[in-house]
Amino acid sequence: MLERFCPDEIVPRLENIDQQALLNRGIKALLIDVDNTLVNWRGHRIPKQRVKWLNRAKDNFAICLLSNSITARRLRHLGKVLALPYVCRWGWGRKPFGGGYREAIQHTGVAPAETAMIGDQLLTDIFGGNRLGMHTIMVHTLSDSEFFITRINRWIEALIRMRLTSRGIWPPVSAHEIGSQVEAGNESG
Ligand SMILES: [Mg+2]
Repeated sequence: MLERFCPDEIVPRLENIDQQALLNRGIKALLIDVDNTLVNWRGHRIPKQRVKWLNRAKDNFAICLLSNSITARRLRHLGKVLALPYVCRWGWGRKPFGGGYREAIQHTGVAPAETAMIGDQLLTDIFGGNRLGMHTIMVHTLSDSEFFITRINRWIEALIRMRLTSRGIWPPVSAHEIGSQVEAGNESG
């Protein structure tokens, strides 16, 4: 059961993900979490390097943003700026439940087995993606600011990570291309 919380890969930032490696693995679509994965919590600003990575990803994959955000206004803005579809679900459709994932899959038109879920939370992004048979990639959270429920979840995450590490199945952090320069510190703004 605990294995369902284990990501297949861990990278510091979205832009550290090796797109060619995903293509080689047969991945055709990406579902990308928004808060603390794409932008800071409640943020709007996307660093240039990440935009560059996303523009390249748009050539390689079908992409949909997938968020548990309560309001859709910011998602609408980000979707428009990036020219990407988005799914914003609260209640029983939220991650890790299946509703939001299924809606996102309708946007990409790609089966779960050929989809990668990318996010910063084990209990939502990674658990939900694993349940549906997706390839799961965890990123380090972008900022210390988080929804209060997320702060509670981080304690549970730490316990799960300890158990998975002691079993020797917690993956090492890998950083493609821009590596060490983005590993340290949080982003501001
Ligand atoms: Mg998040």
